[in-house]
Amino acid sequence: MVWPRDCEVCSRPADRPGRHVCSDCLERLPFIPVDGCCRRCGCDVHRLDGEFLCEECRTRGRGFDRAASALRYEGDAEKMLKNFKFRRHLWLRDDFADWLEACARARFKTDEIDLLLPVPLKFFRRIDRGYNQCDYLAEALSRRLGRPFSKSVLKRVGSPARQSELPEKERFDNVRGTFAVGKTDVLAGKTVLVVDDVMTTGATLSECAKTLKAAGCAKVWCISLLR
Ligand SMILES: [Zn+2]
Ligand SMILES: [Zn+2]
Repeated sequence: MVWPRDCEVCSRPADRPGRHVCSDCLERLPFIPVDGCCRRCGCDVHRLDGEFLCEECRTRGRGFDRAASALRYEGDAEKMLKNFKFRRHLWLRDDFADWLEACARARFKTDEIDLLLPVPLKFFRRIDRGYNQCDYLAEALSRRLGRPFSKSVLKRVGSPARQSELPEKERFDNVRGTFAVGKTDVLAGKTVLVVDDVMTTGATLSECAKTLKAAGCAKVWCISLLR
């Protein structure tokens, strides 16, 4: 298979070996800074100096111990993820892995991670699309970090409405009880990193984390490419 060597954003020749975003476009992508984010969920809504705890994390409570995201869901970052997800631009995984790796190393003690787990797709959506973009992201990140990954531990059960079609308040109820774990014996006392493509309200990741904690995980960290 011959993959394009032009920049995914501006279509000029990509100038970085093995990557699909040129250095000019890379500089303009909406990376979330490491400093000035909520210490729980990693959002940068307040754009403050130093760490804080955001309103959502203070009032709602989160199933995960900590979450972080590499970029904001906007502009070219959003367009790239949509191409990856819906148009099979799978060559973007190396670029995405760069950004996830940098985010993970800056935010987590990565040598403490026992297992990386992708957020599973609902069965019918998986059949529809033929692949789960989160599997690719988690697998690529696992190789970069040198930590194991499994796509058979976390499973979807039930079929709630699409999160993106619901108002924010209903998303937390909609995902309740929709995840299950296949092999609980591998999770007892472990630190896991759950990998998602987009974090919006955090409802899905929070629910995943609750399921994993109930199965014995000691710590659940979450990472998403976009926020
Ligand atoms: Zn470019
Ligand atoms: Zn927060």
